Amino acid sequence: MAKSISRLQFLRGDWEGRSGLIRPPGSQSESHLMHTCTGCRTCIETCPAKIIRADKQRYPYIDFRYGECDFCGACAQVCDTEALTEFKAYAAPSTWRWRAQIQDQCLTEKAVVCRSCAEICEQGAIRFQLQAGGIAKPKLDADACNGCGACLSICPVQAVNLTQGEAHVRD
Ligand code: SF4
Ligand code: SF4
Ligand code: SF4
Repeated sequence: MAKSISRLQFLRGDWEGRSGLIRPPGSQSESHLMHTCTGCRTCIETCPAKIIRADKQRYPYIDFRYGECDFCGACAQVCDTEALTEFKAYAAPSTWRWRAQIQDQCLTEKAVVCRSCAEICEQGAIRFQLQAGGIAKPKLDADACNGCGACLSICPVQAVNLTQGEAHVRD
């Protein structure tokens, strides 16, 4: 079943809701991270996008308010303990299952024209379909989305979340 996060969780950086946070790409599981990460902060200091933060237990998570992940692989490359496993640079690792999800607070639901999310999406995963009334609404192509998070911070009404598992595609 798909899992999504709320606006409040977004602001808190609580990307996975009650079960935890969104960990950097290359992480295998919460339990693997807890057993291998020493809280050294090397990944945090290395990430060129500056989107990795430390949680209260000093484990790394991604806060997409600060930018997007381009899957450069630097965080995993510098991890000496293999808490983050190296992956092919500039391609999302197979363990990365996050996908964008567009919520009902999207401005187009109020007949306001906005295409910010589609304009920033390099994957072309958000397309607009003309609806009755003349307003085009976004539709996510979950197969094209790589979960980079670029569309989250650009949305003026925080209508985009990330969801894990089977992606929701809004009709
Ligand atoms: S893959 Fe690159 S951009 Fe993404 S979190 Fe790691 S270091 Fe940062
Ligand atoms: S950026 Fe946000 S408000 Fe604008 S079309 Fe995309 S989801 Fe809707
Ligand atoms: S998460 Fe990235 S790839 Fe997916 S829709 Fe948003 S900008 Fe596009």
